[in-house]
Amino acid sequence: MTKINNLKQAMQKEDKYQSFLVFNSANLTYFSGFQGSMALRIPLEGESTLFVSAVNFEQAKAEVKGLNIQLVKRGENLMETIANQAGALGAKFAVDSLGIESWRALAKAVGGEEKLEVASNLIRELRKVKDQQEIQLIRQACKIADAGMQKAKETIRVGVREKEVAAEAEYAMRKAGSDGVAFDTIVASGFCCAFPHSTFQDRTVKEGDFVMVDLGATHRFYRSDITRTFVAGKGSEKQKRIHEVVKLAQKKAIEHIKPGVAAKEVDMTARRVIEEAGFGDFFVHNLGHGVGLEVHEAPILSTDSKDVLEAGNVVTVEPGIYLPGFGGVRIEDTVLVTEGGAERLTGAFAF
Ligand code: ZN
Ligand code: ZN
Repeated sequence: MTKINNLKQAMQKEDKYQSFLVFNSANLTYFSGFQGSMALRIPLEGESTLFVSAVNFEQAKAEVKGLNIQLVKRGENLMETIANQAGALGAKFAVDSLGIESWRALAKAVGGEEKLEVASNLIRELRKVKDQQEIQLIRQACKIADAGMQKAKETIRVGVREKEVAAEAEYAMRKAGSDGVAFDTIVASGFCCAFPHSTFQDRTVKEGDFVMVDLGATHRFYRSDITRTFVAGKGSEKQKRIHEVVKLAQKKAIEHIKPGVAAKEVDMTARRVIEEAGFGDFFVHNLGHGVGLEVHEAPILSTDSKDVLEAGNVVTVEPGIYLPGFGGVRIEDTVLVTEGGAERLTGAFAF
């Protein structure tokens, strides 16, 4: 229950909350190790309670350790149940995130909106730094993604359909033990590579096409994220040049990573390489994002990020160049920030 104790410590520093009421599903999994609960109340003192509907109650009792498990019956008002259990008139509650309807219901149950405060940032900060067990799970998810990318590479040829490449890659990941994809697999060929998140086409790959593959696996709730860009058949000099620039940008950025470095500086390192090569206008997104229970989480590697890297962060480094009408290249790896610098968790094979 180290994670819960860490949150209690963060709450103690704030010195204003009686309980943290957790509703966000990734946050619930983070603290309980279980997927399928409705809410979790973490009081400053004493035991925490996980609220679970009848559908998942038996499984929760069997799998969750160190938490009270409270059944929420069908028709029961969850917010009133939480409020009754929390008691303490006049107390203030921290909340991570809630839809507007649920927020109103909770406010009514605890006796007014002024008793609630959004404090998702406390959990965001905790989740940024992965412990050894989390790193192990992400490491495994990355290995599975590598197997998927290897298969994608083998499947790409002139005449193959984009969806066939995606299907083969996903099948390979399943066989390698993936619990599911980390997000919808992207296979984009030809001019579609110029759209960073192209998913709706199903082009047939043609001679000389760029083929961009962006995929990830999930292993016990933890995710991975990798992108490679290949050329079907023979590549042109221009294609090779763009690929080299993106590869160099990624290499320089990863070399720049170590604890204490501002995330925005890592973004700027990659951006500078691409700008100096004359493609500055065509790197249209952030350099990277945190990966863990969600495929996009803190810290963020962008030009205006306020995050400072710490050992235990897991982030993607994914520079890209997208030329409208021509195609694009993105190279992405999931990277662990270590005491000494950075370790690539994806990318077991050369490209
Ligand atoms: Zn990706
Ligand atoms: Zn990504």
